[in-house]
Amino acid sequence: MEKKKVFTLLLFLGLVLPSLTFAQVMTVKGPIESEDMGLTLIHEHIMVDWIGADSTGYQRWDRADVLDVALPYLEAIKKHGITTFLDCTPAYLGRDPYVLKALADNTGLHIITNTGYYGSGKNKYIPKSTQNATAEVMASHWIAEFENGIDGSGIRPGFIKISVKNEDNLSDVHTNLITAAGLTHLKTGLTIVSHTGGDAPAMAQLEVLKEMGVSPSAFVWTHAQNGTLKGYEQAAKEGAWISLDNINSSASNEDGTIGNIDWFVQTLSKLKEKGILEHILISHDAGWYNVGQKNGGEYRAYTDLFTELIPRLLQNGFTEKDIDILLRQNPKRAYTIQVRKE
Ligand SMILES: [Zn+2]
Repeated sequence: MEKKKVFTLLLFLGLVLPSLTFAQVMTVKGPIESEDMGLTLIHEHIMVDWIGADSTGYQRWDRADVLDVALPYLEAIKKHGITTFLDCTPAYLGRDPYVLKALADNTGLHIITNTGYYGSGKNKYIPKSTQNATAEVMASHWIAEFENGIDGSGIRPGFIKISVKNEDNLSDVHTNLITAAGLTHLKTGLTIVSHTGGDAPAMAQLEVLKEMGVSPSAFVWTHAQNGTLKGYEQAAKEGAWISLDNINSSASNEDGTIGNIDWFVQTLSKLKEKGILEHILISHDAGWYNVGQKNGGEYRAYTDLFTELIPRLLQNGFTEKDIDILLRQNPKRAYTIQVRKE
């Protein structure tokens, strides 16, 4: 082959191969191809410790007890075909990469953990020494966790998890959190998952990201069940992910009814009608071993999606393909590690 042709071929491979090779997500056992995620639960919890950032730590729980309690719940989702599980418990709220790694070893599930700080709860879950740090300093901690692993474990986060208060304007600390998330995204390609709630704080965060040159497609509007259909349409139009996270067939509602499966069926039907199912993520936000309670207290299973919601969706005009979009295609596209610029 002439030199020029060889050069052209190498250039071509150089352009094409990285996009093939680097479609990956980061699990607690290292990177895997996004294609191998399979059916995915995108927002659940193994453990939560509500005591606050300045008192929590690995000494607060017995790892063997957490494993004993959590294992059967993970075995149960495997029976429904789930192969990937995103643990959304942030640092200082009971995130334990060693527990997650042991659960991944025991179950064969791909488990993904996160980096970032949780700002709701009046910043009680951010160490006092860090609350007033600049976005750059916060981001440097999160980027270091991605590059070197969490707390010397070598276990790396697969997404950024932050949380802001559900109010119209972001506070200074919460503006710093979303800015730090944007900086971390630009450096690492990790997706930003932000516990948000209503429309206004979702749009406010998207504005911050866009100003930084971060694409809305790098942003998951978490707990969007507290938002409106109009908000979902706007966020989807911009390319963001809308995460409806409270599938629960047994919760008591204020009006005396039980569960929210009807709400999910109605809302998902409207989103399908509007053609924006490709932007929707769903989960239970269930679990969890509650640190401080005997054997973790009452643990909520991750199975209502399969036993209650999917059968109802299939009776209401949803196809197997729609379910596949929600549980396989969307998680893969949302959480693949890739820098997404505006
Ligand atoms: Zn959660």
